[in-house]
Amino acid sequence: MSEQVVSDPLKFARGRQSLEGNLPVASMGRLKDGLASEAGIIEYRLSGYLNEEGEPCLRCQVSGALEMICQRCLEPMNYALHVDSVLLLTTDEKLLQDDDPDAPDRILAQQDLPVADLVEEEILLVLPMAPHHPVGECKASAGLSETGKLHPFAALARLKSDKE
Ligand SMILES: [Zn+2]
Repeated sequence: MSEQVVSDPLKFARGRQSLEGNLPVASMGRLKDGLASEAGIIEYRLSGYLNEEGEPCLRCQVSGALEMICQRCLEPMNYALHVDSVLLLTTDEKLLQDDDPDAPDRILAQQDLPVADLVEEEILLVLPMAPHHPVGECKASAGLSETGKLHPFAALARLKSDKE
């Protein structure tokens, strides 16, 4: 499988270009660690555009199914992956070190941007830290509190996703 790259991300964004493809889960080395199985393929679409301020952006959309490990019963569980993120392209490396949590996500507009790496990075950002079966479908549900309170990690993950 040939490595897909965006040869010139700024040109890609200004020209409102897009590309799509798919990646086997097994090819994503950093992702595999938290998974019950390496089976499956994810689909992605990358589209370039200029935002209202005229800044070049990449929109990254990913979908697919992952088999993760439920952190309550440690059995496999299906996780419906859905990413829809926007990255601002920048040529200034200093801007990448901006720690402001409200600042937009930026990536360096490097030549020959490797698409697979970008997609994997975006997937890692959305994955829950402590994935678990829905309440009632988990074998370990006896350990859940009756009030339906979320596990602290799950609450944290939810907080994180609410912010996005
Ligand atoms: Zn479970």
